[in-house]
Amino acid sequence: MTSRPLLRLKPREGRRARAGAPWMFSNEIEMSNVAKALPPGSLVSVAGDDGRPYGTGYFNLKSLISVRLFDGAQDDEIDVAFFAKRLKRALALREALYAEPYYRLVHAEGDGLPGLSIDRLGNTSVVQVTTAGMEALLEPMLEALDAAIAPANVILRADTPARALEGLPSYVRAAKGETPSRVGVLENGTRYFADPASGQKTGWYYDQRDNRAFMASLAKGKSVLDAYCYTGGFAIAAAGAGASEVSALDSSAPALALAEEAAAANGVERICNFVKADVFEDLERLAGAGEKFDIVIADPPPFVKARKDLEPGAKAYRKLARLAAGVTAPGGFLCLCSCSHNMPMERFVNECAIGIIRTDRRATLIRQAGAGPDHPVHPMLPETAYLKTLVFALD
Ligand code: SAH
Repeated sequence: MTSRPLLRLKPREGRRARAGAPWMFSNEIEMSNVAKALPPGSLVSVAGDDGRPYGTGYFNLKSLISVRLFDGAQDDEIDVAFFAKRLKRALALREALYAEPYYRLVHAEGDGLPGLSIDRLGNTSVVQVTTAGMEALLEPMLEALDAAIAPANVILRADTPARALEGLPSYVRAAKGETPSRVGVLENGTRYFADPASGQKTGWYYDQRDNRAFMASLAKGKSVLDAYCYTGGFAIAAAGAGASEVSALDSSAPALALAEEAAAANGVERICNFVKADVFEDLERLAGAGEKFDIVIADPPPFVKARKDLEPGAKAYRKLARLAAGVTAPGGFLCLCSCSHNMPMERFVNECAIGIIRTDRRATLIRQAGAGPDHPVHPMLPETAYLKTLVFALD
């Protein structure tokens, strides 16, 4: 058995941790001198005030979530063999779900690996580490990743804003191979391109896979507007499914260039029109011109980045719903999304409903969905299910 610093929960604190959640907040931990002296990211064992062991995790005094446990790891060494075991389990789930190597391979706590996400884009793996604890374990993790799937390229996207809160530097580099600026992605039978080194997130948003397929299933013979199209995820799926025309808007020229290439690779470039624009401005312009689309999709960046932004963010979602409903044709479908962690599902439904009703339209909610199954959620952390994708049918 390994000897690590032992942290204790305060008496009567840590109700969720006692019930099995892998997080402990700073106010729930007995901040002994030993704890206060630990460098950020130190491995620790945690016990209750009664001595009951809770497992192994890592600790950061500076973080509100001070302990993140490797759920189910009691006395394990956190070494190559440990990561190999976790990656094997993560890989088995994805191989049960998908025939091709295009998916999120590791989704943090959902895969028992807090602070770590890995997207697999064919033979390129993109790794995101968000905590000091996981950063300290990069070496054994990368060794286990190489043994598990032997990617040609492993790119470390260590440039997420969350890292600053952990006192970590921002960088992007290849841990193995190269950092290609364009890789192919295959999803639901559609070919796309992603820029894993400087695109959004890991270059691709696998979380919307099932929602793209759903919207595409409605698209045959229909006109489609994809607002915040990024590299064409929804737009090209709809075009490939037989949409009559697809207009797509984004503010990022490099993302639009990849979308155009993808449209050509799927033979739907004549149906698609990618335009660099600000979505709010363009929706007002389209409404002013009386334009309508049978299907409208709006998948914006997070409007609620921190809890304090909830009210202004909620207003922005409401306004987007109103403007998007305004360009949705009678009998059309409107897909509204939020990837804000701090926006609860119920509130999001409510804001969207109010926005739509302001256009004097009757709407029904026909689908409430989230990220696909390669984004598993720890059952004691339901709030980590951040993506909300709603589909409304409008009269
Ligand atoms: N729907 C996409 C993901 C969208 S991510 C998919 O399926 O992959 C959000 C996108 O919003 C990014 O591509 C970003 O460039 C774009 N964006 C951010 N602010 C914008 C604005 N004001 N107007 C238009 N696009 C914007």
